[in-house]
Amino acid sequence: MLPFKLIYSDDYYLPIGQHVFPAEKYRRAYQRLLETRVAEPGDFAAPQPASDQDILLVHTSQYVNKLKTGTLSAREELELEVPYSPELVSAFWLAAGGSILAADYALKDGVAINIGGGFHHAFPDHGEGFCMIHDVAVAIRRMQRDDKIRTAMTVDCDVHQGNGTAAIFAGTRTVSEPLPSSGPPVLGRRPLMRGAHAGDVFTISLHQENNYPAWKPPSSIDIDLPDGITDDDYLAWLDNALSSGLRQFTPDLICYIAGADPYREDQLGGLALTIEGLKKRDELVFRVAKTQGIPVMVTYAGGYAQRVEDTVTIHCNTVTAAARMFALKLSDG
Ligand SMILES: [Zn+2]
Repeated sequence: MLPFKLIYSDDYYLPIGQHVFPAEKYRRAYQRLLETRVAEPGDFAAPQPASDQDILLVHTSQYVNKLKTGTLSAREELELEVPYSPELVSAFWLAAGGSILAADYALKDGVAINIGGGFHHAFPDHGEGFCMIHDVAVAIRRMQRDDKIRTAMTVDCDVHQGNGTAAIFAGTRTVSEPLPSSGPPVLGRRPLMRGAHAGDVFTISLHQENNYPAWKPPSSIDIDLPDGITDDDYLAWLDNALSSGLRQFTPDLICYIAGADPYREDQLGGLALTIEGLKKRDELVFRVAKTQGIPVMVTYAGGYAQRVEDTVTIHCNTVTAAARMFALKLSDG
């Protein structure tokens, strides 16, 4: 039995047909976790769909109305990059419900993992990049509305910048601490670390600079990584970003967006992390959260490895990493 919950439903499947997004990855991860005995059936909790009221904590009523009535314009559907259907709307409402449940469990157990979600390219008034609804933002706003948290920090390790997250939580900016002027040297060129402190939600994004989205609205901390970065440099930058973020801000909840697409064999990514490096990435986030005593909720986000099995392995390793870190006493870790 795991010391935390995994949130999963067969209905996480996205009905998008043949697509670079492997919609079956959720079910495959669920099955793999059971087959390898990393988890047992009792470790899983089934989500309910978010309510419209929850969705409206983040998204505009005009946009929600368009989704519910099937009246997106052709351009809006194109921008979404997945084919609209009422069933797809239901799947996104369910993903948001899953992230709400994961946040709730994380606050109780210290960590919880949504075997789905992480749709970080959704904006209040439109969806893009396969993301219709920003489930993580909905979960944060719901926890705040219920007075379960005041503040949160997003740690986005998907290869693509969290543009929706940055836009949603741009809020009122305050003066930030000067960011470290130097970091580990990377491929003869230092990536740009940008920063602007947001309001009640502090956003960190580590991503490939030369990749979608072309326009990257500022997160509280953005690490713009060069193409081809490998494990050690990536981990150094992540460590640097987490340290800097937690010096500036004390969140009640960390929302870790554990994209599998920094993997070197990803079709939509240009970084060069190994499966082992990605596991170390997960362990680093969990170690920092546990050391600081901050609950952490996890979502899966992207993953487009040439072999879907690799994406599933990377996602399952996130569960293994959490099991290791949260089963251990700190002195052992
Ligand atoms: Zn991605």
